[in-house]
Amino acid sequence: EAVVNRIAAGEIIQRPANALKELLENSLDAKSNYIQVTIKSGGLKLLQIQDNGTGIRKEDLAIVCERFTTSKLNKFEDLTEIATFGFRGEALASISHVAHLTIQTKTAQERCGYKASYADSKLLAAPKPCAGNQGTIITIEDLFYNMPQRRQVLKSPAEEQQKVSDVLSKYAVHNPHVGFTLKRHGEPPSVKTQAGTTRAENIRLIYGAAIAKELLEFTYEDALLRFEVHCLMTQVNYAAKKGMLLLFINERLVESAPLKGAVDAVYASYLPKGSHPFVYMSLKLPPHNIDVNVHPTKHEVHFLYEDEIIEKLKGQVEAQLLGSNA
Ligand code: ADP
Ligand code: MG
Repeated sequence: EAVVNRIAAGEIIQRPANALKELLENSLDAKSNYIQVTIKSGGLKLLQIQDNGTGIRKEDLAIVCERFTTSKLNKFEDLTEIATFGFRGEALASISHVAHLTIQTKTAQERCGYKASYADSKLLAAPKPCAGNQGTIITIEDLFYNMPQRRQVLKSPAEEQQKVSDVLSKYAVHNPHVGFTLKRHGEPPSVKTQAGTTRAENIRLIYGAAIAKELLEFTYEDALLRFEVHCLMTQVNYAAKKGMLLLFINERLVESAPLKGAVDAVYASYLPKGSHPFVYMSLKLPPHNIDVNVHPTKHEVHFLYEDEIIEKLKGQVEAQLLGSNA
């Protein structure tokens, strides 16, 4: 059974960067406005995330790593939404099957914090009292120590670190109300944002002044198709060999090949051949319009009225480019 659980867990947690994605979402769900990530060996040796969120109650520490344990059911409108946003209550459980996991946490109500270690979904010993500020520190060590084949197919620590940095950077852009830090253990931060800035400012900080120079920005709401978008996009005087569509749908980092293709197509008539834009987009859709048939570990999403919504977004992007070019 342990082996079956491990294989299932390895499907959900494929590399340090996707463990981090789950942990970042947990910290954000816990209303943190400060999140610090520390890694060793690209997150393989150590992936630690510290937040100043609500913390986890002592009595919940016993069950928090059991599969399907979630405190968030009331957050979700209906079962469809739970299915859509994937493995509810499975992230910590999965991590505990493929790594050494320790949680240190303190809520506002408790006088001291507690620290607990887990293996295979189970608490290893009674949580120990400890000092600490409100919030949670999740420590993951030796990811895939029990899955040598998985470790072999992973990239080098440098490449895993790049993927970790990429995920953190995107969440930092999307969440300017939160201060994010990424550092290698014992080194100064390689990414650092302040809480309370703007998405545009974080793009400048993280992706550089060349991209951020005179970014075009718009918000748009479509009552008929029922979506909202906030977009920051480069002007036609910016062009890169490799484009980027940084896409969040309902606060979750996702990918949409059709949307990326559409955005690229609009820019194609303005940019030199082989050049691409940088585009950040946050889309909000009614949760039940997102396709539940897509496997939760796949980041590619589909949604209801996709063609129509993409067509509208294309129009908005084009209008921005035309406006700035006039
Ligand atoms: P889910 O996020 O789907 O509920 P997870 O396995 O990711 O499932 O987390 C399980 C539970 O652990 C969460 O529902 C939450 O109650 C608690 N939790 C995890 N991380 C944090 C955190 N950083 N701060 C507060 N609570 C957390
Ligand atoms: Mg979670």
